[in-house]
Amino acid sequence: MADSLETAQLSDDELLRYARQVLLDGWDIDAQIRLKSSRVVMIGAGGLGCPASETLVRAGLGHIHLIDDDEIEASNLQRQTLFLPEDIGKPKAIAAAQMLEKINPLITVRGTVARLNEDNAYELLDMATGKPDLLLDCTDNFATRDVINRISVRYQIPLLSASAIAMQGQLALYEPQLNTGCYHCVFGSVVSDTESDERTCANSGVLASTTAIMGNLQANAALQYLGLTKNPLTNKLLIWDGSQMQQRLMGYRQDAECPICSNH
Ligand SMILES: [Zn+2]
Repeated sequence: MADSLETAQLSDDELLRYARQVLLDGWDIDAQIRLKSSRVVMIGAGGLGCPASETLVRAGLGHIHLIDDDEIEASNLQRQTLFLPEDIGKPKAIAAAQMLEKINPLITVRGTVARLNEDNAYELLDMATGKPDLLLDCTDNFATRDVINRISVRYQIPLLSASAIAMQGQLALYEPQLNTGCYHCVFGSVVSDTESDERTCANSGVLASTTAIMGNLQANAALQYLGLTKNPLTNKLLIWDGSQMQQRLMGYRQDAECPICSNH
């Protein structure tokens, strides 16, 4: 957490803005202060990143850093809710950060146009100032997911990973510091083993509601993790099937032979 809870407080503006949330059973001033003190790095400011970051920013997340190297295209507007037609051609990380700042000027937002990899992770995650409290994987391909998982395990940073395709989505919250398994334990070497790694929104299609729902399920898990220090998905993979309106939880365990996380 960026500030200690003892020194952090809520201003009158914050108390007014977050009044409906502080009233909640099971969510109080301390939870709101914990959220305000949290720093999240979100990788991917597209279909998942837009709704996830918007909800977190409206809810009062204190510090968010968006990393994305893509530019806005006309075909993004169907689901990437932070962008308007006049944003076409702009970098997603910058346009999204500007919109989030307008939505909630009480927090700090940063956008960086870059592709996160193992070489630039230390710098892009600002590790010199301390670890982020949570990484949000909002990307749309297996190769990048694998890289983000390696970074999460290497630096022992919790990883909340969402995916959305067609009318289906998945969500998991990995805590490498607890040795409860990682993305690789659940999905294995999908990248090298199959041809399905190229199945992304770009070539398979995605319904606008799928990314909106999965991004907000991701925000829902992040709010509980950051505000209430509770992982609602410990050793569980959430699977959403929009065509059947069904959600189910599938258990998983750490793979003792996992080449990414089993030696930690
Ligand atoms: Zn693993």
